[in-house]
Amino acid sequence: MKLLVTGGAGYIGSVVTALLLDAGHEVVVLDDLSTGYAEAVPSGATFVRGRVQDRAAELLTPEAGFDGVLHFAAFISVGESVRQPERYWDNNVVGTLSLLSAMRAAGVPRLIFSSTGTVHGDLDALPIAEDAPVGPLNPYAASKLAVDYALAGEAAAHGLGAVSLRYFNASGALLRPDGTAYGERHDPETHLIPIVLQVAAGEREKLPLYGDDYPTPDGTCVRDYIHVTDLASAHLLALESVKPGEHRVYNLGNGNGYSNRQVVEAVREVTGAPVPVEIAPRRPGDIVAQVASSERARAELGWNPARTDLRDIVADAWEFYRRAC
Ligand code: UDP
Repeated sequence: MKLLVTGGAGYIGSVVTALLLDAGHEVVVLDDLSTGYAEAVPSGATFVRGRVQDRAAELLTPEAGFDGVLHFAAFISVGESVRQPERYWDNNVVGTLSLLSAMRAAGVPRLIFSSTGTVHGDLDALPIAEDAPVGPLNPYAASKLAVDYALAGEAAAHGLGAVSLRYFNASGALLRPDGTAYGERHDPETHLIPIVLQVAAGEREKLPLYGDDYPTPDGTCVRDYIHVTDLASAHLLALESVKPGEHRVYNLGNGNGYSNRQVVEAVREVTGAPVPVEIAPRRPGDIVAQVASSERARAELGWNPARTDLRDIVADAWEFYRRAC
């Protein structure tokens, strides 16, 4: 297929691009490099620098013959979204609406969208399946849920085939035998695993551990870490299975919850380095515990995550850090 990947210079977008190219697809990456890196765009893809809002209509002409779009380009920082919600509505929602309008005009039939498990908010009943209640706790999650709703309408009214993939905690890296690596690198970094690795490497003095008095077994928050190559394989399966006029949603995780303290312990084991921790106040808006049920993706897509052990996930993230950071 000929595919447009928005955000293909970012973490998950670059990994998916690499695997799409491996599978023989033709890929054009559109990325404004506001948070991504040009060198992260896999060789073999055509790279266009620009914002979705500005460039999608120009790229997605009927003559260009695109078979589908994988839409990763978005702002992803929860804290920033609370401080500047307008940026999230503009980039994540208005940007996607302009993409949909361009796809409609050009007759591009398929869209795979990066949604998030955080649309479910803080639920007591775990694991979280797709039919669990939604209740976003911040503008970031709200912007993703708004797009999910927009896709449902677009599919019903205009025949788009769309899949929203709701990621839980993407982590790990794609490591190639030739030494190239695609992984997580944000500036500033806000995510737990890359921050703990920075502490292990001595780049940061200690980890501020946001809260140890939560109602969880060890008092710290619990997350479902899913290896980025497993997330990527779900995109390829979704692309093959998407049907005109249908919008489907899949929650993607391993179904195992690990506490923040367990993540720190895994980093200590993998790196052999001490990881000083300082208990800090709770992070506003933090979800206590999130674990996915991915039964639907397994049953309908035939998805089968392969790298599920937290130590393997951390080991791959560590190897990426050593190769690239
Ligand atoms: N976290 C932490 N210290 C940090 C960064 C994150 O204690 O420096 C905690 C955070 O409060 C949350 C967990 O790690 O409980 C996962 O946070 P992350 O931002 O990686 O993912 P998300 O909150 O989006 O699930």
